[in-house]
Amino acid sequence: MLKKKTLRDVPVNGKRVLVRVDYNVPIDERGNIVDDTRIKESLPTLEYLLDARARVILMSHLGRPKGRDPRYSLAPVAKRLSRYLNREVKLAPDCVGEEVKKLVEGMKEGEVVLLENLRFHPEETACDENFARELAQLGEVYVADAFGTCHRKHASVYLVPKFLKPAVMGFLLEKEINYFEKAMVAPQRPVVAILGGAKVSSKLEVIKNLIRRVDKLFIGGAMAFTFLKAMGYNVGSSLVEEELLPTARDLIDVAKKLGIKLYLPVDFVIGKEVSDSTPTRVVPWQEIPEGWMGLDIGPVSVRLVEEIISDAQTIVWNGPMGVFELDKFKHGTIEVARLLARSPALTIAGGGDTDHAIHKAGVYHSFDFVSTGGGAFLELLAGKELPCLVNLDDEVV
Ligand code: AMP
Repeated sequence: MLKKKTLRDVPVNGKRVLVRVDYNVPIDERGNIVDDTRIKESLPTLEYLLDARARVILMSHLGRPKGRDPRYSLAPVAKRLSRYLNREVKLAPDCVGEEVKKLVEGMKEGEVVLLENLRFHPEETACDENFARELAQLGEVYVADAFGTCHRKHASVYLVPKFLKPAVMGFLLEKEINYFEKAMVAPQRPVVAILGGAKVSSKLEVIKNLIRRVDKLFIGGAMAFTFLKAMGYNVGSSLVEEELLPTARDLIDVAKKLGIKLYLPVDFVIGKEVSDSTPTRVVPWQEIPEGWMGLDIGPVSVRLVEEIISDAQTIVWNGPMGVFELDKFKHGTIEVARLLARSPALTIAGGGDTDHAIHKAGVYHSFDFVSTGGGAFLELLAGKELPCLVNLDDEVV
């Protein structure tokens, strides 16, 4: 991966700095922010800029509004951020237009303006060039710090850094990329990847890439059943992607050829339906009866994971081991989260469900790093280039 410049590489004193942050936070019906992790994660970059007396212009999207819609206003974010920064954060009436331009031109050193939701304009997701140029005119320096949106080829993420120079990484993005590189580009070996979740199809690129980079790969979650079926075993009514059976067979062969150890769960908690009221049983993987489906990995599989990671130097985790949203099927995922949290290896995790499960297990602070981006984290694991990095300035070596 080409090294990109960071905030430390450019002068920002007194400058108008346009920062793409990810303030796409969950907000309830009464307008209260339910989880402000993303706001907190942006503070190191903002505090650095304010220490340098920069004029800070923040831009973000929130939700998926169809045009202007007050329910998707960033007003609650401006309020919360004012509290964290201990100074007024002005909410602009829009993100482009004459009024916004005037507001930004009138900013004093050390002031913060939050532009209104970028997605009130369909040009943002359409990656419109004129819209991007208008945003670019607001600043003198561009800072990319919205890791959660980094995989989107949207105007503020992809095009603005092409038109506004210098364009550099903020500290959150830098941290995400650094941890990813530590785990995947130049890792301490053995490297173990643990994958879970519902569908092989949504993680195919990730599996294909990881199989070439890691030493051991454990596949749990519903994905395991496509692999078990591909090997010719009966999986009852567990979730299987029939059209991917040949691909699963190929992946098993590739792992064999490359000498990568591929593991599947050896027992399952099974139920008759995806519900907390269904009867359950724990069975070895060869014994899933017709009419039953695997909804979590069993206790022996958890011990297997413990064994697999016992010599690991680096562990990467994405995706739950079962239907962890339901009490009856959460244990595999929670136990795996606890095992990884206890491991002395460099442990990084990412993905919305994974993050949720780590919180549920109460071990968030024991992980070396939990990525703030779901889709962006998966794109990195799949070996893809992130659109948010493409137009940032390269580090001169
Ligand atoms: P993904 O978005 O692909 O990471 O999938 C996450 C979803 O996979 C979660 O909502 C889990 O409930 C679901 N999941 C995990 N294991 C299973 C399983 N054995 N059967 C059905 N769904 C599962």
